[in-house]
Amino acid sequence: MSGALWDITALAVDAAVADTAMAARARTALPQAQETALAPGDPLPTAPAGGRVLHIKAHKGRFLRPCPATRHYRCCGYQIIHIGENCPMDCSYCILRAYFRDKTLTAFANTGAMFAELAETFGRDISRPFRVGTGQFADSLALEPITGHTRELLGFLADYDNVTLELKSKTADLTWMAANPRPDRVLPAWSLNAPAIVAGQERDTAALETRLAAARTCAAAGFRVCLHFDPICFFAGWEREYAAIIDMIFDYLSPADIAYMSLGSFRCLPELPGRLTAEGRELPDYMLGEFAVGADGKKRLLRPLRVRQFRFMVAHLAGHGFSRGLYFCMESDEVWRAVFGHTPRELGGLAAYLLDCARNPGG
Ligand code: SF4
Repeated sequence: MSGALWDITALAVDAAVADTAMAARARTALPQAQETALAPGDPLPTAPAGGRVLHIKAHKGRFLRPCPATRHYRCCGYQIIHIGENCPMDCSYCILRAYFRDKTLTAFANTGAMFAELAETFGRDISRPFRVGTGQFADSLALEPITGHTRELLGFLADYDNVTLELKSKTADLTWMAANPRPDRVLPAWSLNAPAIVAGQERDTAALETRLAAARTCAAAGFRVCLHFDPICFFAGWEREYAAIIDMIFDYLSPADIAYMSLGSFRCLPELPGRLTAEGRELPDYMLGEFAVGADGKKRLLRPLRVRQFRFMVAHLAGHGFSRGLYFCMESDEVWRAVFGHTPRELGGLAAYLLDCARNPGG
C-alpha cells in the first residue's frame, strides 16, 4: 500500500453499516481521515487536501456475477464477487476510467448479506466446483489492509471445499494470509506488463519485482499463483519488453508454481482515449495504432497483430518450460487455433480446463 494509505483523507460511512466490523477496521486503519456519518440521501463529502473519499456502504444487488463476456469470445467461466468499486491505482488502460467519473473508492460492508447469498449458491450442490474472484470493478487487494474484506471472505470460504478463490492485484498485499486459508483453494494472482508500460502507464502500482517477490512468498507457503498479461500493448520495442518481464518471472517462480496464465491484447471501450485526453493526459503510443471494433463493441488491435503478439508470448514462455495453463481472455476460436492449434472446446471447455489447472498441479 502507498505510504499515504492511497491518500484517503475522507471516510464516509453509511448509517446502515456504521456498526460493522469493516467500518471499525477502516476507522482504525485511517485515523487521519475525516469521518462523515451519512444518513440516507446525504451527499458524499469532498475529501480534504485533494485526497480521496472511501465510502463504506451496503451493496443492494447480487454479489456474485458472471464475468462479462459475449457469445463471440471464449470466456473462462469465472464468477466475480462484487466487493467494491473503483481503484486507488491509476493505469491508463483501465476500463474503470470509462465506468466511473469520480475517484471515490467504495467498499461494501454488508458482508452478512454477501455470505447469505454465497452460502445459498455454493452450498446448493457442494459437488459443483466454482472458480471465483473478487473485484470486477476494483483491484482485489488494494484496500485489503483497510477493509479486511478478503480476510472475512476467506473465513467464510473455509466451509466450502468446492470454491477456489483467485485474488488478482497489482499490489503486493499479503495481509489476507493472516486468515490462514487453504493453499489449495486460494490462487493469489498478479497482473504483469512490460517494464516500460508499468513505468509509464501504471501509477501507484507495486513494482514488478515487488509483485513477483510476493508471488514467490505465496509459492513458498504452498500456494500456486496465477499471472495475467492483460493488456499486452503494441508499441515500438514490445518484443524486447515482454521478453524481459517473462524472463523476470522465472527469476522468482518455477513453471510448476504457476496454476494458469492469461494473455489478453489491449482492447478498450471507444470512449477511453477521450476520457484520458479530458484528464489532460497524452495518449500513449499503444493507443494510437489501428483498431477494429469487436463483437463486444470494444476497440481491439487488428487480428494479425494480436496473433503476432500471442505467438511471441507463447513461444517465449515455452522457452522457460511454461505451456500448460496458458489461455486467452476474450478471443475467438480463430485466434485460439492460429496460436495454439486447438480451440477451448478441444481442451474440454475453458472453464473445466482452468479448474483442472488450478486444482491438479501435475496435469
Ligand atoms: S490496478 Fe487494475 S483496477 Fe486499478 S487502475 Fe490499474 S487496471 Fe484499473
